[in-house]
Amino acid sequence: MLQKNQIYTTTIKDLNNLGFGVAKIDGISVFVADTVTGDVVEIKIIKTAKTYAVGTLTKLITPSPMRCDETEVCPVSRRCGGCVYQRITYEHELALKRQYVQFAMKKAGAGHVTVNDVLTTGKTAHYRNKAQYPVGTETVNGKMRTIIGFYAPKTHKIIPAETCALQPPVFSDIVRFTADFCDRYRIPAYREETGEGLLRHLYLRMGEMTGEILVCLVINGTAFPHADDFCREMTERFPDVKSIQTNENTQNTNVILGSTCRVLWGEDSIRDVLCGRTYRISPQSFYQVNRTAAELLYNTARNLLALAPSETLLDLYCGIGTIGISVAEHDTPLIGIEIIPEAIENARENARENGMTNAQFFCGDASDAAKILADISLHADAVIVDPPRKGLTPEVIRYLGELNPSRIVYISCDADTLARDIVRFAEVGYHTDTVQPVDLFSRTGHVENVCLLSKSII
Ligand code: SAH
Repeated sequence: MLQKNQIYTTTIKDLNNLGFGVAKIDGISVFVADTVTGDVVEIKIIKTAKTYAVGTLTKLITPSPMRCDETEVCPVSRRCGGCVYQRITYEHELALKRQYVQFAMKKAGAGHVTVNDVLTTGKTAHYRNKAQYPVGTETVNGKMRTIIGFYAPKTHKIIPAETCALQPPVFSDIVRFTADFCDRYRIPAYREETGEGLLRHLYLRMGEMTGEILVCLVINGTAFPHADDFCREMTERFPDVKSIQTNENTQNTNVILGSTCRVLWGEDSIRDVLCGRTYRISPQSFYQVNRTAAELLYNTARNLLALAPSETLLDLYCGIGTIGISVAEHDTPLIGIEIIPEAIENARENARENGMTNAQFFCGDASDAAKILADISLHADAVIVDPPRKGLTPEVIRYLGELNPSRIVYISCDADTLARDIVRFAEVGYHTDTVQPVDLFSRTGHVENVCLLSKSII
């Protein structure tokens, strides 16, 4: 029996996707922060539960060959918790991510699926184009000041975002400028305990290829005081800022954005270029956070789809239309479905701006839409689905089966729900033999996957 405060010498056998090394002692999994697969360590047990225990590293006896140079480790990473893999070399991270997907397939009963090596751009820093920073206050030497940063894992304690290895360096400058502006003009940070205060989040987006930056102030109210000064100072200091908006969120909720955005200055969206096409992106719309890796993903999807001229493509969960528009020809009959109205507006404009002559976008829930399309016996040769982490509903799978396209390309940001859905698709006659992971989220515990489901017998 493991007991609290006991000391053990052990070898770390695994690194989970929350960034904890895992040892097995007396058949119990022990999670140890700051360790990686292959470390020989001395640990002290700090918590025991029925099925697991938690240890703390007391001595690193022999470091694992997977470890990378400690100087490369981000100074705020332990407190922020985002970059769970940064203590190991990138090569090992990719191997672990592949193993993780393999494990997810096995666990769900799709163990026959081959998981390819993870595709990557090789870029592991500054790849993100989006950040949503919570705003709070801290008191230093008796003086209260605004802090803008990240939540520490599982808490609402804010860690100032002076640096983040994943984000464009200019974001840190905009964060500092905004915190300083709030202090100078006495704009109060929102306090979730009381529901008082104004500024909840600073939300930034950048078009990697255009350089255009969107600044969105998420506020607990309808107006941002001194907005003219804010816009003037911001755009003087950061000329790439092309849009400044507020988003109103007066609810007591963890959801970051409310439904109303107001333009304070400039455009209502920014542009970026992806797979040679230009896209308009508004604050509420989904856009892949790693543009360069998204190109790898979309090119893989295009090759898997192998659309022939005049084949009809259905793009479910289409967001601003990027996948459909990127993989289709100008005259491909394309139907996109998405639940966020602003994203559908962006998608229509994006289709127009990119010369798509046969594209239609509809706003609605994917399950409802799939039912309607099945009811009217829409002819779709190929379908792309790209759902959020929770994956597809059983209804979507059933109605897609009724639509009977010859192939379905499934893009997923959650290997567990993908594996579950692969098993469900088999029940309606669609099979896959290969999943291709793509590293859209280097250094973090997430990995994207794409696979082709078709009716061919395997
Ligand atoms: N394919 C797009 C977006 C993928 S993200 C791209 O690559 O950019 C998933 C999208 O599904 C988001 O845009 C989200 O708003 C949308 N979504 C979430 N739930 C939905 C539902 N029930 N029905 C339709 N779309 C939904």
